[in-house]
Amino acid sequence: LFLTLEGLDGSGKSTQAKLLAAFLEGRGLPVVLTREPGGGLPGVRDLLLNPLKGPLSPEAEYLLLSADRAEHVRKVILPSLEAGAWVVSDRYLDSSLAYQGFGRGLPLPWLLEVAKEATLGLTPRLTFLLDLPPEEALRRVKDPDRLEREGLAFFQRVREGYLFLAKEEPHRFVVLDATESVEAVAQRIQAHLLPLLP
Ligand code: C5P
Repeated sequence: LFLTLEGLDGSGKSTQAKLLAAFLEGRGLPVVLTREPGGGLPGVRDLLLNPLKGPLSPEAEYLLLSADRAEHVRKVILPSLEAGAWVVSDRYLDSSLAYQGFGRGLPLPWLLEVAKEATLGLTPRLTFLLDLPPEEALRRVKDPDRLEREGLAFFQRVREGYLFLAKEEPHRFVVLDATESVEAVAQRIQAHLLPLLP
């Protein structure tokens, strides 16, 4: 079963991804914990995050993320699912729709067309969206330069984009209030998974 975590920088995705993986392992399930950017082509993370090498055009940024995602799906996610593992990914396609689509203004139809090939149509069974105001998210981030580089309005558009996507697919998305404590958010995630456990 394929699960993803989404949200702004600083929303606690990585922490919750680890707790979720530990929860599933505790149930005796095989788990593969992975992430984007960099899950398929590790170098892409550095290209995107190192401002000395950027800023990239939004189109180049999206195509790099898509190349990473194409590798991630083919070499990591699908083989793991076929082997019977539960795959937990810290970010996936929704990150691109929110950041490159709503944040940077690339047209969604183009993003989705490229994504069809990149992902082979693979969609998560559940996506946990850790929602919180950008001001709060960015207060938590270790990289304060990023706020200055992008501006608050960018992260506001990304948040709105995520909430729009969640409304479009209410059966896949679980929207969580990420201002709650780590334990409280983890428990909400676990509660949504209980019905899916073998
Ligand atoms: O939060 P995480 O460490 O997974 O993301 C790495 C960085 O890449 C974050 O600063 C995030 O804003 C950025 N990113 C992006 N577009 C994406 C995915 C991540 O700009 N599609």
